Amino acid sequence: YIQISDLHKTFHTQGRSLQVLKGINLTVRKGEIFGIIGFSGAGKSTLVRCINRLETPDSGSIKVGGVDILKLSKKELLEARKKIGMVFQTFNLFEAKTVYQNIAYPLAISRIPKKEIKRRVLEAAELVGLSDKLNAYPGGLSGGQKQRVGIARALVNRPEILLCDEATSALDPQTTLQILDLLKEINHSTGITILMITHELDAIRYTCERMAVLEDAQIIEVGLVEDIFNNPHSRTGALFAKVY
Ligand code: ATP
Ligand code: MG
Repeated sequence: YIQISDLHKTFHTQGRSLQVLKGINLTVRKGEIFGIIGFSGAGKSTLVRCINRLETPDSGSIKVGGVDILKLSKKELLEARKKIGMVFQTFNLFEAKTVYQNIAYPLAISRIPKKEIKRRVLEAAELVGLSDKLNAYPGGLSGGQKQRVGIARALVNRPEILLCDEATSALDPQTTLQILDLLKEINHSTGITILMITHELDAIRYTCERMAVLEDAQIIEVGLVEDIFNNPHSRTGALFAKVY
């Protein structure tokens, strides 16, 4: 469903160049929760940012539902982005807006009638269990509740894909489990495809069926989570050994 072929990206800063994606090939199937594990600087965030075109790759293709999103016009891209929700490590909420306004934000800039906006915000809030917090401000919420707002905001356009970039890395272990359970539940009830990117092995193990290992700008292994944890390739094994 997401098909990434031979994706390359190099950053040029202060006369230096850094290859951040070296020919990434990856297929994520419709309706699955797919995990990408990689440690700091591996290129994880750059990869997800390419998928919703917050970053422009140098070459390669990214097809979402068969459409190459690198070939879209500006207007087509705005439409395509509505199908892709994104959740961030640091939540990225508007502190001066209420929970309701934060969730409604992606709709406020489109031409949807107010009544419909309300319907969708209430639906998204219900899905993440925040129906009783709509008038609160982010400052008065726990980390887990803030991330629930982030998830509801990502879902308010009823996207087909949810990109999670270290969505639980700022949370304590117990809250992490609650958010992972929520993601599983949402995947189950809506059929949304989830791409989860993290440096936390346990989060992938708990949530995903298939995964890829990203190291030094390349995918070094792809397969069933169970197989990779039980019997990793030597490079993956060496990587895992560093964190355990
Ligand atoms: P982390 O786990 O720390 O979030 P990551 O795997 O998400 O790391 P990226 O954020 O994709 O890694 O960054 C990969 C490399 O590219 C890093 O060395 C980073 O410094 C560099 N990089 C990222 N964005 C830019 C940019 N806009 N300009 C220059 N270099 C960048
Ligand atoms: Mg990152």
